[in-house]
Amino acid sequence: MSVAIAVAAVVLGAVGGGVTPRLAYRLAIEAGTVSRSACHCARAPRTGPSRWLGPATRCPVCTARQGPPTWSTIVAGAASFGLLVAGLRDDPALPAFLAVAAIGLPLAAIDLTSLRLPDPLVAAAGLAAVLGLVGATLTIGTPQPLLRALAGALVSIGAYVLLALLPGSRLGFGDVKLGGVLGLLLGWLGWPAVLLGLVLPHVIAGVIALCLLLTGRVGRQAALPLGPALLVGALLAALLCG
Ligand SMILES: [Zn+2]
Repeated sequence: MSVAIAVAAVVLGAVGGGVTPRLAYRLAIEAGTVSRSACHCARAPRTGPSRWLGPATRCPVCTARQGPPTWSTIVAGAASFGLLVAGLRDDPALPAFLAVAAIGLPLAAIDLTSLRLPDPLVAAAGLAAVLGLVGATLTIGTPQPLLRALAGALVSIGAYVLLALLPGSRLGFGDVKLGGVLGLLLGWLGWPAVLLGLVLPHVIAGVIALCLLLTGRVGRQAALPLGPALLVGALLAALLCG
């Protein structure tokens, strides 16, 4: 892989991250509220930004930021794209991983603010993963990795359904669906990647929850989003096994 391709990937990721905040804002519903028609201040329409893609804007009335900080999604986009291109190099499934990473940016941002993973975005990620892996299969000419990917998705969905059904589980079915999409991608890379993809998110989420508890930032009963940890865990699993 040439340096030019790596630089292009980082720039592409940064651009993708830069247009994420508006999408994240429009699809997010603040936790504890049902309305997406008004800003917090209730004096301005919540869907103020007219376009779906672009940097975060501010409410014209109360100046509250609408969407995640643009710098944060730019950094996340550039880092995830750069790491994936460096880690997966010549894997024909790289476009599938990049597409899901791009859709993962608004998913993570929305889950952080609203504790939900909107179905249309998860479905788009699933569609991108399936199309990308089918394309990669046509490139390599053998169905074996694709079949392992489908098995990885089923195993991941099964594991997350079991976790979600446990008494006291805070795992939502958005997490189950996203876990299935990520299991599909990781299955392409092999069973060690699927296993890591199941374990790492809980390690990451556990460490973050412990830090937040110890620093008094959240209470014992606080609901914390798992989506970002699922995405970061899958990224790490892909880098370790790709
Ligand atoms: Zn406002």
